[in-house]
Amino acid sequence: FTVLALESSADDTCAAVVTSERKILSNVVVKQNEEHAPYGGIHPLAAVHAHHRNMPGAIRAALNDAQLSMSGIDGIAFTRGPGMHSCLAVCANAAKNLAAALDKPLVGVHHMQAHALTVLLTSPESERPQFPFLTLLISGGHTLLLLTTSQTSFRTLAAAVDQAVGRVFDKVSRALELPWSTRGPGAALEECSNLDMPPEEVPLFPQFPPVQPGKLSFSFDGVHSEVHRLLERIKREGALTIGFKVGVARAFHEAITVQLEEKLVLALRQCAKNGISVRHVVVSGGVASNGFLRNRLRSCVQSKFLGEQISLVYPPPYLCTDNAVMIAWASMDRFLRQEHDNYSIEHLSKWNIEDLQT
Ligand code: ATP
Ligand code: FE
Repeated sequence: FTVLALESSADDTCAAVVTSERKILSNVVVKQNEEHAPYGGIHPLAAVHAHHRNMPGAIRAALNDAQLSMSGIDGIAFTRGPGMHSCLAVCANAAKNLAAALDKPLVGVHHMQAHALTVLLTSPESERPQFPFLTLLISGGHTLLLLTTSQTSFRTLAAAVDQAVGRVFDKVSRALELPWSTRGPGAALEECSNLDMPPEEVPLFPQFPPVQPGKLSFSFDGVHSEVHRLLERIKREGALTIGFKVGVARAFHEAITVQLEEKLVLALRQCAKNGISVRHVVVSGGVASNGFLRNRLRSCVQSKFLGEQISLVYPPPYLCTDNAVMIAWASMDRFLRQEHDNYSIEHLSKWNIEDLQT
């Protein structure tokens, strides 16, 4: 079964072709970093205009790369939500129009479910996570710890009480006045922390105070405001050197990582205490493409759960950030069960992942 999937829930316009035999035939992602750089964040109207401009070309390129015409496509999938309402409308309408005109079945997909299930497509069979597994979703709009018991059953163990972790990466990157790399502000902050130079001492986070101690919920306001306060002062003093930026970038990475490590360990202990045997932790969403974080979370779980054989599973970095491959894969089960959506299906800017089960 071959699916053409479309995604436009935030600022990337994506189209991809994937088969039920786990073959990624194409993966087109058109970034909008240049459109949004002058605004210092995603500008909703600019995003919609760019999606309108870029979607037809993305679809054409996805078919060309897959060396297929529409007659080789068996079903059309799209991101139904959650996301920015008018951005979602672009992929929803494009998918419905294609499906209706060509008489193909249609499936609308939950964006966060798609982030979570990507590893079921990309991991070799011996490493594929088995249910129940823990899912840590770290992205631009979400920070979620989920107990995942099937492709559609997700129980929320924790969320961020304030802002999403990816959003804080974006804000700190901008406050450091880093150039928007082609990969966006979060990746620019990672690149800065990796610069091969001695960092200046930065008076940040002398010891990492536990965030929401004993609780699973995340909070990033504290880290964010501490960086913000320091940078205001340093900029007033005209002392924002490159060495200082590297120091801040590294301290910020450390603070974020320590919090994610703590919550993940706590969640695994709680599962064990409640008799839930979790052998895999899936980490996905844009922030999971961060190399420092990937290594640290993996060695943290290895050292804290020695002998318990808990594995961390990540999608490859290029499939952690938004893409339509994950949308195609998350739709596959429903296509194979012939559980299609109606052409009149509405897109949803808010959609709780727990509601997938019903
Ligand atoms: P959501 O999935 O919650 O709807 P989204 O789709 O906008 O949000 P994703 O594409 O999944 O978000 O992830 C984008 C986020 O990932 C951005 O906040 C970005 O800064 C962050 N990000 C991307 N690459 C990196 C990186 N290398 N290090 C840290 N953060 C990163
Ligand atoms: Fe996303």
